[in-house]
Amino acid sequence: MTQQKLSDTAPAAPGLEAAGPVTPTPGALSALRPLGLGQARLGAGGLLGRWRRRNAEATLPHCVDNLHGSGNIGNLRAAAGESGDEFAGMWFADSDVHKTLEAAAWQLATSPEDAGLRSFVDGTTALLARAQRADGYLNSYFTVVAPQERWARPDWSHELYCAGHLFQAAVAAARTGVSPDLLTVARRFADLLVERFGPDGVEEVCGHPEVETALAELYRVTGHRPYLDLARRFLDLRGRGLLGHGRFGPRYYQDHQPVREVREVTGHAVRQLYLLAGMVDVAVETGDLALLDAAERLWADAFRSRTYVTGAHGSRHREEAYGDPYELPPDRAYGETCAAIASFQWNWRLLLATGRARYADEMERVLYNAVAAAVSSDGRHFFYSNPLHLRTGHASTGEEAAARRLPWYSCACCPPNIARLMASLPGYLSTADDGGLQIHLYGDASLTTPDGRRVEMRTDYPWQGRVELAVTSEADAPWTLALRVPAWCAAYTVSVDGEPVRAPVRDGYVRVTRAWRPGATVVLDLEMPVRQVAAHPRVDAVRGCVALARGPLVYCLEQADLPPGTVLEDVRLDPAAPAVPITPGDREDLPDVPVVLTARGLVADAGDSLYTAGPRRERTGTPLTLTAVPYFLWGNRSEGPMRVWIPVAAAG
Ligand SMILES: [Zn+2]
Repeated sequence: MTQQKLSDTAPAAPGLEAAGPVTPTPGALSALRPLGLGQARLGAGGLLGRWRRRNAEATLPHCVDNLHGSGNIGNLRAAAGESGDEFAGMWFADSDVHKTLEAAAWQLATSPEDAGLRSFVDGTTALLARAQRADGYLNSYFTVVAPQERWARPDWSHELYCAGHLFQAAVAAARTGVSPDLLTVARRFADLLVERFGPDGVEEVCGHPEVETALAELYRVTGHRPYLDLARRFLDLRGRGLLGHGRFGPRYYQDHQPVREVREVTGHAVRQLYLLAGMVDVAVETGDLALLDAAERLWADAFRSRTYVTGAHGSRHREEAYGDPYELPPDRAYGETCAAIASFQWNWRLLLATGRARYADEMERVLYNAVAAAVSSDGRHFFYSNPLHLRTGHASTGEEAAARRLPWYSCACCPPNIARLMASLPGYLSTADDGGLQIHLYGDASLTTPDGRRVEMRTDYPWQGRVELAVTSEADAPWTLALRVPAWCAAYTVSVDGEPVRAPVRDGYVRVTRAWRPGATVVLDLEMPVRQVAAHPRVDAVRGCVALARGPLVYCLEQADLPPGTVLEDVRLDPAAPAVPITPGDREDLPDVPVVLTARGLVADAGDSLYTAGPRRERTGTPLTLTAVPYFLWGNRSEGPMRVWIPVAAAG
């Protein structure tokens, strides 16, 4: 049990109580209300707290350095007329600045003393204001390189996409009280969008959705209805062919059908997922149930047949796209980091809207696996794509299929996206409603609802399934503490003040109702046996394989744990011998990994012939003891083959 003192409990900035990613207005169609960063505090101990601290100490400064080093800041200086430097990087490079600003704002909410981060926010906000055109337009590429093409290529330009990330940065800065000035910049641009694309304006949508969810959030911060109306209008205008056929066809950017009629996720996964986030935001703020239904229908499609066991989305490198149903090849998986983050954000919105645990289950799965794997243990190296199998002899085909994490990318969308998610992590742990407090993600944290209910949570999750909660507030009337029991969990116990209580799972949560007194304790114990996970038989690519999982963590085999000369693809798992969790203890190469799995396996002798007549028979070879490490840690010790799906040894 982790007992570290909470170090992250500095007094909240003014207004922070309501500050967090996604804050529906009081009138919204929302079942649950998030706790802001001032109400949910992650402690320094525990995995989630460590990830957030690493983000603050390593990832965020690394992003800031690279914005300077890669020319993103220089582009804005050129747009402000302060340098004659050539434009550097992608035409949507401003979005990396905006995402880093958003991350900085969430981080400053709990680390107001961080002078370096404060100076980045203030300096960059002032620079953005100087780079902004007199009419409110703000985009360094179309200011410096191609002013004559402003708004000319909505399928390709990413102008509204970049605007969306600016708005989200401004929302974070406003909600946390970090910078009111960024909101002024954002509103000037948003007002221009309303004027140009609003009710009497041009009928256009962006080839890369993002502005829809951002405008809805900007509405939530400002109360300015035209922003929400414009978000809805951008949704309503999709599926009318406004973007044209483009290089990959209208399904690529979700312009093939009206959003309320679509029945399956298609095309570029990040675009699809950001669009779905916007659909939920607009649905709950306008009471548009058809829009919410459409988002839930697409959720069912995405998670029934197009999601990796790690929570990653997008199985095709070409078009960075969703594949056909059950097309989930582990070695050719794309699984862009940004898609994992977008899935997390979309599921959060659906959870708030409906209160259904399945959305929190998916947040947990993608956070602990696909998102977590994308960043190195040192917080300064990143994956763009996230395969579930790196083959022996893999030849990297460029940045998007790298065999190891890289410090930065020419298209650097992923690293600052990780930074903003990790910085805002406390805002995703828990929610409140009139009846009490709901806890969705477990970690060392202090939680306070808007009406003063307080709980201290201590746990070694996800290494152990025991979660201890101490109520520290006084209440005259009963209220309900709801604790998610993940779908992977087959058995659990709950006790209150040491007494076992019968608390059945209802809608994915155990709910304990009491007139809680300070000092009351609740212990939830989720059993975490090692699971052998099998895929639906239609996932041909992994037939005959299982994945090892324990709690929310998916595990993998790495070359680093095999005897020298062993080819990873020849390794088989003995299905009759259950894998067991062990503490690596004195393994110097596995520091900070409390639990690895060990299993019985063997090296098969498959012969040399690529093809043989009839069913293939393998001769069993050398028995060996397998070590499986959490997937999110792969590639930190050495560059080498890895696989999540392990072939099972033939019987007999
Ligand atoms: Zn990305």
